[in-house]
Amino acid sequence: MKLKRFYFEPHNRHNNEIILTEDEFLHAVTVLRIRVGEEVIAFCGDGFDYYCKVKNIAKKELTLEISKTSKNLAEPSVNLTVFQALVKGEKLKLIVQKLTELGVSNFITFYSKFCDVKSNTNKLEKLDKVAISASKQCGRSVVTKCNQNVFALKDLPLENFDAVLLAYENADDKNLVCETQRLAKYNVKNIALIVGPEGGFSDDEVEFLEGKNVITVSLGKRILRAETCSIVASGIIIQMLENLQK
Ligand code: SAH
Repeated sequence: MKLKRFYFEPHNRHNNEIILTEDEFLHAVTVLRIRVGEEVIAFCGDGFDYYCKVKNIAKKELTLEISKTSKNLAEPSVNLTVFQALVKGEKLKLIVQKLTELGVSNFITFYSKFCDVKSNTNKLEKLDKVAISASKQCGRSVVTKCNQNVFALKDLPLENFDAVLLAYENADDKNLVCETQRLAKYNVKNIALIVGPEGGFSDDEVEFLEGKNVITVSLGKRILRAETCSIVASGIIIQMLENLQK
C-alpha cells in the first residue's frame, strides 16, 4: 500500500523524532485516521523522505519515529523558476498547485503594465500551503518555493540563469518546443520562464526584456490564458530538458 505522506517544519524534528502539528496533525488524525504503529513518510523540503512509524498521538500533536532516511527520487534534473505576472488569487493557487506537480523549483510573481489585479500580498502567503499540499500528493520531498514579494517587471532577478524564456504570443519565429530542444544541446540546468498577465505585455516591456537577453517563445497560434501558458510551458520545458539531456 502507498504510504501516506506528511509535511513537517524542520524545527519540528528532534534527533530521531518528528512532531506533526496543526494542519498536518488534523489531516493525519481526523481525515486519514492514522493509528499508532502505522508506517508513513514525512518530508520537510530538504529532498529526503523520512520513513517513520507513528509513535504517539496526543491531543494536538503526533509523534513520529524515524526508521529510515532515503533520498527522494521525484525531483527533476533541471531547476525551473517561473516568473508569473499577477493574476487573480484563485488562478495563482491553481498555477502553484500544477507547477508543484510538474516539478518547478521557484515561483515568483511580478507586476506589469497590463496587470488587472492589485498586488495583494495576503494571497501569496496562502501559496505555500498550496505548494505543500501538492508536494504531498505528487510524491515530491521538495516544496516549490513561492516568493513572498511581488517584483516590478524591471526589477526581476534574471541574472544567474542558463537561459530565460519569455512566453510571448507574438514571438512568431521561435516556438517553445524548438527552442527548448535547441537549449537541451547546451545541457542547461537552471532555467527561467516569464509569463505575462491576462492583459499581456506592452511593446516597451517586451523590448526591455529582450534587452536582458531573454528569448521570446511562442506556444502556438492561439492565445492562451496566463494559467494555461504557465502550466503547459513548464511541463514542456521540464519534460523536454529532462528527457533530451542526460
Ligand atoms: N494580451 C494578450 C494575451 C495575454 S495572454 C491578448 O489579450 O491578446 C497572457 C500571457 O500568456 C501572455 O502575456 C503570454 O505570456 C502568455 N501567452 C498566451 N498565449 C501565448 C502563446 N500563444 N504563446 C506564448 N505565450 C502566450
